[in-house]
Amino acid sequence: MAGLEDLYREIILDHYRSPRNRGELLPPAHRAEGFNPLCGDEIVVYIDVDESGTIADLKIGGQGCSISQSSASMMSAAVKGHTVEEARELTRAFKQMMSIHESGLEGADEGDDDATIELELGDLEALRGVVKFPVRIKCATLSWNTLTQALDEIAAAGA
Ligand code: ZN
Repeated sequence: MAGLEDLYREIILDHYRSPRNRGELLPPAHRAEGFNPLCGDEIVVYIDVDESGTIADLKIGGQGCSISQSSASMMSAAVKGHTVEEARELTRAFKQMMSIHESGLEGADEGDDDATIELELGDLEALRGVVKFPVRIKCATLSWNTLTQALDEIAAAGA
């Protein structure tokens, strides 16, 4: 299994060294900020959702450890160009993967849509190994929680 772990490490380092969608968007793009005090990670999500409910553009700012920053990069690549609904489903799938060993974790048992969790996690699978280090799970989920916060704020503003 060392081979697979090496591959995962490669993917994480690649996203850390060459982060996707790095930068910022000007208003009216929405801006949300997340912070993980346990590790000092900071993530800023800039997001532009068009009238059809598609994430037209998304940029990532902030700084922190390799897990938090590579997870943000993967998140940005995974949801950009997709609908808000798809982004929320992917978030659920990712957080479910992250909570396999933490049955009490928030959101772990919400909904009964296990069948729809057949989503393509792609590079995100590389973060699967993080569940072995519970203290790093918050690093991996930070950008996803910040994305959810941004989507919730956009929904609230449009309601
Ligand atoms: Zn961290």
